[in-house]
Amino acid sequence: MSRTEPRRGRGQRANQATPSRSGARFEVTGVVQGVGFRPFVHRLATELGLDGVVGNDSTRVFIDAAGSPAALDGLARRLVSDAPPLARVAEVRRHPLPPAGVARGFRIVESETRDGARTLVPPDCAVCDDCLAELHDPDDRRFGHPFITCTNCGPRFTIIHGLPYDRAATTMAGFEMCDRCRTEYEDPTDRRYHAQPIGCHGCGPKLRLDPAAPLLGAVEGAAALLDGGDVVAIKGLGGFHLACDATSDEAIAALRERKHRPEKPFAVMVADVEQARRLAHVSDVEAEQLGSPARPVVLLRAVGDVVSELVAPGNPLIGVMLPSTPIHHLLLDGTDRVLVMTSANVSGEPLATCDTDPRLGPLCDAVLTHDRPIEVPCDDSVVRLAGSTLLPVRRARGFAPLPVPLTTGSRPVLAVGGELKNAFCLADGGRAWLSQHLGDMENLPTLDAFERTVEHLAGLYDLTPAVVAVDAHPGYSTSRWARRSHPDRIVEVQHHHAHIAAVMAEHECDPAVPVIGFAFDGTGYGHDGTIWGGEVLVASAARADRVRHLQPVQLPGGDGAVRHPCRIALSHLAAAGVAWDPDLPPVVAVGDDTELLRRQLDRGVACVPTTSMGRLFDAVASLLGLRHEIGYEAQAAIDLEIAAARASGPPPAYAFGLDGEAFDQRPVLRAIVDDLRAGVPVDDIANGFHDAVVDAIAQLAIELRSDGA
Ligand SMILES: [Zn+2]
Ligand SMILES: [Zn+2]
Repeated sequence: MSRTEPRRGRGQRANQATPSRSGARFEVTGVVQGVGFRPFVHRLATELGLDGVVGNDSTRVFIDAAGSPAALDGLARRLVSDAPPLARVAEVRRHPLPPAGVARGFRIVESETRDGARTLVPPDCAVCDDCLAELHDPDDRRFGHPFITCTNCGPRFTIIHGLPYDRAATTMAGFEMCDRCRTEYEDPTDRRYHAQPIGCHGCGPKLRLDPAAPLLGAVEGAAALLDGGDVVAIKGLGGFHLACDATSDEAIAALRERKHRPEKPFAVMVADVEQARRLAHVSDVEAEQLGSPARPVVLLRAVGDVVSELVAPGNPLIGVMLPSTPIHHLLLDGTDRVLVMTSANVSGEPLATCDTDPRLGPLCDAVLTHDRPIEVPCDDSVVRLAGSTLLPVRRARGFAPLPVPLTTGSRPVLAVGGELKNAFCLADGGRAWLSQHLGDMENLPTLDAFERTVEHLAGLYDLTPAVVAVDAHPGYSTSRWARRSHPDRIVEVQHHHAHIAAVMAEHECDPAVPVIGFAFDGTGYGHDGTIWGGEVLVASAARADRVRHLQPVQLPGGDGAVRHPCRIALSHLAAAGVAWDPDLPPVVAVGDDTELLRRQLDRGVACVPTTSMGRLFDAVASLLGLRHEIGYEAQAAIDLEIAAARASGPPPAYAFGLDGEAFDQRPVLRAIVDDLRAGVPVDDIANGFHDAVVDAIAQLAIELRSDGA
């Protein structure tokens, strides 16, 4: 972020008693459209007694102002310090302007389009307090209006299909404003001045329940169905949620069956922080996140037994979010309802955004929907707090498409991302736009959503990629898509180098200065054709040297083995020279297949060597008897973390072997087997294992640093 400091001419210094009239043009870039920036400037300039105009085009907000030098300096300062809540000012440039050409009074001028770097599209934002007060005020004309919004809140990214941000460039284009709404829209002093999504009961989108409930409004009808145990699809900002009563075992069991999602935890929605405290411990920072404009799902430590065990089976955490749209508020405010809210999709597919999506019907008993189209799908974001540090787990609604600043310029690049939990990145000059989380690319609907989202984002910012970066894995759908559509611009990037370069960008490291990077992961295609995932790289943005890695073991059955931690455990035990004795849990779990597996490992048939840290966590989880088969990605590692968190005894000390290029897990596995046989509690062993990984990171970092790496 940089700002041009206000300057004062020499002549003014000599003439302070009677300030002369001077002029300036300001250019403001960042998230400055669709957030009430021009009316804010209008109010500020009027208050400061300045003359001039404020306008915007697709690249910036510009202000031509004339008045006293002090007022101009005040404007420069307060453009940043007093900006509206949703604005993010990246830069204010100030240029001299002859004051004579500036007419008296202050006006807002129309938007213009213009070539060049675009202004930033704001993310979607939860209903603001002012709108919420009106929503619940029986005397307000928008009392109970399910689409209430203003310049400080509401949908943005998911309704915008072009810039500059005007009603015609949104999915509100088809709704003709009534006279009262238009008056607000055109009044610079109104909170709804140029709020593109505004409407009212008369002219805005219409909510409906399908099938309609006799004698009840759409919201009341949906509430009655939910209270009765039905599954209702609810149209949100970036797609449909499936909702059901989180206190009902039957309702959740039915939802899990329909979604083909037997065990993976669901998030829940409650009216407010007070209601959230019935379900979980909520610290002050967690409460702040719950109520933030992005309204992410916050992972909290569960308490009590208000919700069904089926919400997050066996998991001490619960994902909680607060209402983000007026529809959610109408369903929940003033009630103690706890609703499961999960994306309306079949496991692994993109979420449904359209009423006519044929996948929607079989998933629910009724649909609470409306006629404002969704331009792009956008899932809920998920965050977790470690103390006061925010850990984004999934970055989507409320955050996308805000860019990450890059410390060097570049040609336009499209980086297409990986296979699972895909998000792509578009970069140009000093910014990297990350897409919202899109999902697993192995199925066709997700790949379609990927293609549409690339087009949407590239179109918004008018970017044509000169380089298309793909994962080195030859089988990834995204890589194949890129090779088909941009065959002449492909650059291959190793998976873990990409992870480390991304962290460097996030922390604004100098891209030319190498770092010691730890990439601990499930699966990533290595330069040698094996599966990497426990890698230490000395890496700059441009190159990476693999300096350490886990001791490789055979992955029997390749990528498919990830569903069977017990088979991975036996492979790890074999590598560590531990006999497959029947007292060890994974030996029991593999059962009759043990001999087959032994032959497979001996001959290396259909085996791929791997240095994956994820598979080591799987192996230890199975060895401790916690999880032998998984129903969703990372389930065994999650169980291991849960066990470690439960530990009450002192953690046993385990140590990786640190000789040579491999940091060797085999001594850790042998020691764990000994402790297991000695009756050390499983939770304590899990805790000790985590500590050993942490120690290995610290020791390797120190060692590599002193090597001059
Ligand atoms: Zn509002
Ligand atoms: Zn209206």
